Amino acid sequence: MIVILRENPEKKQFDNLVAWIEAQGVIPHVTQGVHQTILGLVGDTAKIDIDLLQQMEIVEAVKRVQEPFKNANRKFHPLDTVIKVKDAVIGGGNMTVIAGPCSVESEEQIIEVAQKVKASGAKLLRGGAFKPRTSPYAFQGMREEGIKLLLEAKAVTGLPIVTEIMDLSQLDLFADVDVIQVGARNMQNFELLKQLGKSDKPILLKRGLANTYQELLMSAEYIMASGNENVILCERGIRTFETYTRNTLDISAIPALQTLSHLPVIIDPSHAAGIARFVTPLSLAAVAAGADGLIIEVHNNPSCAKCDGMQSLTPDGFDVLMKNIALIKDAQLACK
Ligand code: PEP
Ligand code: MN
Repeated sequence: MIVILRENPEKKQFDNLVAWIEAQGVIPHVTQGVHQTILGLVGDTAKIDIDLLQQMEIVEAVKRVQEPFKNANRKFHPLDTVIKVKDAVIGGGNMTVIAGPCSVESEEQIIEVAQKVKASGAKLLRGGAFKPRTSPYAFQGMREEGIKLLLEAKAVTGLPIVTEIMDLSQLDLFADVDVIQVGARNMQNFELLKQLGKSDKPILLKRGLANTYQELLMSAEYIMASGNENVILCERGIRTFETYTRNTLDISAIPALQTLSHLPVIIDPSHAAGIARFVTPLSLAAVAAGADGLIIEVHNNPSCAKCDGMQSLTPDGFDVLMKNIALIKDAQLACK
């Protein structure tokens, strides 16, 4: 981190600043120019409050030369993190597909979808039990009963399950869940992230609707700094000025996050597009761009779905998509 001081700083303010920096456990190296003084901070600058430093009277500008995330940073962990969930492997150049309905709606529905997506090659089953809905009047999910039905589908098919937690009070219900999802709206629920950091379960962390890569990685850092290294990053579309699609899929997130971090990066084309027939082209683009996986909404009867039917594939549509994914994945591997 580099701190540029205003011209002719007062000695007392300068000494105070140096003492403050040293108290943060960081060493300031002073370079005195004719007009300007620059401090190069060496040490663990991640803990320094950059905003506080920036607004000090004596300080003109502060520049970070290193990212504030350490655990999630590829610089300190050059090899890809590979997360194993039962027989599924996420990360390290594999293409792992998670599929299932937006919400668990009934025993028949979740078991039928689970069997069908498994037959098509999905390695994990998704399904929301606790649903973050924009309207309090919309279907909120089957909650505890939804988790029970997911566990039943897991017992029938052997597929590990992925489901979203919305609040810490729900954590006990997740004891037999294989991957805990933190949705876009909770990406910066820091208390939730800290507690999930104490769990040993993989966490699927979705990028917030209007969050930067660095903010996403700082949220991953919350989980990792608390001891849980098993974080899967998920790009699910961001808010832009475009309204034709539900969100805008940021394909750049794949190479960018894979450059910045060693964590697996998966894509959710369903919430990005909001339109079922766009899910195939977006999925294939993600595979071509080197994503580590996809999470796709599939419903046995999309027109009657209680949530997100518009963006849900039918099991048959999903089966065709999986065949195309295999073709593009082969081409992507051949490109290397
Ligand atoms: C979901 O996966 O069902 C979901 C609510 O996703 P997001 O948090 O990305 O909106
Ligand atoms: Mn959904």
